[in-house]
Amino acid sequence: MKTNLKDLTYDELASLIESLGEKKFRTKQIFSWLHKGVTSFDEMTDISKDLKQRLSEKSFVSTLKIERKLVSKIDKTTKYLFKLEDGNMVESVVMYYKHGISICISSQVGCRMGCKFCASTIGGLVRNLTPGEILDQVIFAQKDIGERISNIVMMGIGEPLDNYDNVIKFLKNVNDENGINIGYRHISLSTCGVVKNIYKLMELDIPITLSISLHAPSNEIRDKIMPVNKAYDINELLSACKKYIEKTNRRISFEYSIIMGVNDSENHAKMLSTLLKGMLCHVNIIPVNKVTETGFEKPDRKKIEKFVNVLLNNRINATVRRELGSDINASCGQLRRSVKRGE
Ligand code: SAH
Repeated sequence: MKTNLKDLTYDELASLIESLGEKKFRTKQIFSWLHKGVTSFDEMTDISKDLKQRLSEKSFVSTLKIERKLVSKIDKTTKYLFKLEDGNMVESVVMYYKHGISICISSQVGCRMGCKFCASTIGGLVRNLTPGEILDQVIFAQKDIGERISNIVMMGIGEPLDNYDNVIKFLKNVNDENGINIGYRHISLSTCGVVKNIYKLMELDIPITLSISLHAPSNEIRDKIMPVNKAYDINELLSACKKYIEKTNRRISFEYSIIMGVNDSENHAKMLSTLLKGMLCHVNIIPVNKVTETGFEKPDRKKIEKFVNVLLNNRINATVRRELGSDINASCGQLRRSVKRGE
């Protein structure tokens, strides 16, 4: 099995280069080529044929093929269906904001968390993405749009904290000053609540933004829509969040997909306010996206407004997520599903 060079950290690549008897500065050149999106050793024009030959005996340069690309006519939001080396597919979405360009990336092929409203989990988990494959989404999207991507959200297909080691290595590599160099403060990681790894993450002390997919104001409701709640319930989750805030001094973002008849009443909003009272946090209300297979629907606008107002009146910071790319079905997991269904 050959090594994907983008699975290596800078230091690991340096050891490899040194073990081949090469000068140190070669590492910088090669790392930079890799992260710029070359698709073969041939494109590394300032590296000798001999070194490229020796590298290619034990390693390779991974590529992502753009299988499909949808561009929103409304707001330029661009959705990619990327094909990995082994034929599996993942989705990434590029979004244009005033403050810069943001990409939403996947961490796994499929997902085993089983959230009832989510398209990504329908076929289960196929496999974890490697650090290089997670990075490749940023590299090849950036190359395709020809502009610098400045923000990353790990909110695509998969549960990042269920692929912990690879995700952490990816974060280190995408942050590396010799490569794409995106600051940790410009990166968000979203989790459905794998509490064990929230604790591991806080020990690393890297200033990324943590998003928690809460989606319910009580264990009773959360148990019904998110199986992970049976492993780590709301109390355990929120107590981890409080420790996270204490330790990192960073605001947590709670995601709340609002679903008609499930978690959308004023009483639910009151319960949620009680849960989050006094926490350094922000609540992102996401009108649930209809997924062909799940049957959940979003409440009407008035109902959503009422819900938000209860939170605001209780001094819980909350906003409704603006919908981008509504004409291209931009929410993650859905394009991969529709291709699988043969549409
Ligand atoms: N596994 C991670 C990240 C991927 S999902 C997590 O659970 O956080 C990204 C976000 O989209 C999560 O908050 C997820 O719960 C939410 N989501 C999934 N399906 C959705 C849908 N149909 N409508 C609205 N939000 C959805």
